[in-house]
Amino acid sequence: MAKISVGILGATGMVGQTIVQLLDRHPWFEVTELAASEKSIGRRYADVMNTRWNISESMPDYAKDMVVKECRPNLDCDIVLSALDSGVAKEIEEDFAREGYAVSSNAKNHRMDADIPLLIPEINADHLSLIDVQRRQRGWKGFIVTDPNCTTITMCLPLKPIFDKFGLEKVMVTSMQALSGAGYPGVSSMDIVDNVIPYIGDEEEKVQTEPLKIFGKSSGGSIREANFAVSAQCNRVAVKHGHTECISVKLAEKAEKEDIIRSFAEFNPNRALKLPSAPEHPVIYIDKENRPQPKLDVNAGRGMASVVGRLRPCSILDYKFVVLGHNLVRGAAGAAILNAELLKVTKYI
Ligand code: NAP
Repeated sequence: MAKISVGILGATGMVGQTIVQLLDRHPWFEVTELAASEKSIGRRYADVMNTRWNISESMPDYAKDMVVKECRPNLDCDIVLSALDSGVAKEIEEDFAREGYAVSSNAKNHRMDADIPLLIPEINADHLSLIDVQRRQRGWKGFIVTDPNCTTITMCLPLKPIFDKFGLEKVMVTSMQALSGAGYPGVSSMDIVDNVIPYIGDEEEKVQTEPLKIFGKSSGGSIREANFAVSAQCNRVAVKHGHTECISVKLAEKAEKEDIIRSFAEFNPNRALKLPSAPEHPVIYIDKENRPQPKLDVNAGRGMASVVGRLRPCSILDYKFVVLGHNLVRGAAGAAILNAELLKVTKYI
């Protein structure tokens, strides 16, 4: 089978380099183009990344001699995975879609647009039908799909089986978010060592609004948002990778603890699609009182699973639990790749 050619926009950033690494020897995709800002253009990827390669796996050989290009829609590829800074992503991604490229984006800019899918393949693959609406309304030859904010993805995976089986009325979440979530170079060491910063710009709004679109019903070319309430408090902590979230939920129906744990174990609606990056178990429950922890559990399911623990009754809402997800893998790079894999099996690319 001929491989699908992939360009990576923002290939030099934290998310971009994670995509470069995750696509090494991918069975369906081959990276043919790397692109970034003016300061990187025209240089060998290995030279640009000399002191910036920041993930523990070494740089794949295929990328080392590639020359970084400008983010203009003249790249030799079928699909672009965008890891662009949100300050520039909107226009660049639209230029690519207009010129006929499929765009799988990590940036926040288009997530809440009514005609652009905000995808988690295990939850709302049917939202792909928005692509046809998008092309019709915007006159684009290509299209854009987006993945959610990293905290949102991590939280939505365990919420989905709960939502389907017992209904959700209220969600309260307090996050402890890793440093790599702020990109490179991110938060100054003087600000974060020995500290917790109780504010991340725009984050709480995203975590409160995106789940309602993701859990929304697709019908007649639009999404009717779900109607539970989400209240979020987001904090930056001195962890390198992995967002931890403490969540309380109010359910629509009564549920036993064992029923909720069983719903996590049974949740894998996309198993039949055999997407190469999909985890065997999207939600992993660890029945130990001191888990999940970033240090021990961030790479569970190759970084593509949400790891849950400490499910117990909540004295204000119904239940509370802790969830951990790899912000760079399931929360960004792996999510954009999984969306691209879904586009392939649904024949959008
Ligand atoms: P980052 O480390 O700051 O990387 C930003 C990338 O954008 C770099 O490749 C940079 O290229 C490129 N860029 C900046 N200005 C540009 C311009 N004018 N033209 C072309 N390219 C430009 O950020 P990140 O953490 O990887 O995040 C990338 C995107 O993913 C953001 O939209 C972010 O919100 C989103 N996201 C991040 C995470 C996470 O965990 N980090 C999770 C979910 C979503 P140069 O190196 O050449 O400047």
